[in-house]
Amino acid sequence: MKYYPLSSYLKDKFGEKVYKITLDAGFTCPNRDGTISDIGCIFCDDGGSFSQAHPRHLSISEQIDIGIKSQHARFGANKFMAYFQAFSNTYKPTEELKKIYTEALKNPQIVGISIGTRPDCVDDEKLDLIASFTPKYETWIEYGLQTIHDKSLIWMNRGHNYEVFEKAYFETKKRGIKVCTHIILGLPTETKEDMLKTIEKIAELKVDGVKFHALCVMPNTPLEKMYNSGNIKLLSEDAYVDIICEAVKILPQNTIIHRLCGNGYSKTMLAPLWLNNKWETLNKINAKLA
Ligand code: SF4
Repeated sequence: MKYYPLSSYLKDKFGEKVYKITLDAGFTCPNRDGTISDIGCIFCDDGGSFSQAHPRHLSISEQIDIGIKSQHARFGANKFMAYFQAFSNTYKPTEELKKIYTEALKNPQIVGISIGTRPDCVDDEKLDLIASFTPKYETWIEYGLQTIHDKSLIWMNRGHNYEVFEKAYFETKKRGIKVCTHIILGLPTETKEDMLKTIEKIAELKVDGVKFHALCVMPNTPLEKMYNSGNIKLLSEDAYVDIICEAVKILPQNTIIHRLCGNGYSKTMLAPLWLNNKWETLNKINAKLA
């Protein structure tokens, strides 16, 4: 059983490996600034679920230059995607967004753009702006869907329901922008069957890409308090591997897998500790799929 990783997709398209440069453009999030709530999703830490960015006091051009230099030195990389990851990267007026995205795209080594955001933070004007990049650049929006089950979205204080995602999804797709959905496995409100229903739904929608995460506990989050009080149980590594393998079987073979297992949390993450050995988990997934 094979899957189609993002690295292979980009290599097929551009003839060489393409690396993502993670960016922090100083965005915030309506679920943290008081517009929807001031708590955020219960798992979200101070960095807006973001652990790999350059400091936000640097300009986008500076962050791009640093990212290109370091990835060229490490991997001999020549082509890159600008990845707006921290917080909700469409949560500014369209004119400001245009300046931010354009600054990233002006570097000739940038061949694509990926924008992480919430499905309730886009509108026609913003999507039209992002769609204007598609003729020249590999263009993705990464929506934090997490689950199709509204009971779980309420539990995690997501601040929107599934219907909002579906509306944003169709508006995005009809403009030719590729969509990656982020999915969290191991929500304590869900059984394995619930999780697989989410996968069946995104398979039916034919999303272009998926990024999987296991629910993990970061410091100074509401989830940390719940975890410390013994109220929630996290997935074991074996259970995660089992569900991921089922998920890969359900998804169409051309679904681009952006990530099978979260990483980058090891310094501060509190649980589950097996996530610190991402490569071990990936090996187990690949062995089971084989
Ligand atoms: S939408 Fe993203 S940035 Fe906003 S609170 Fe949730 S995880 Fe954090």
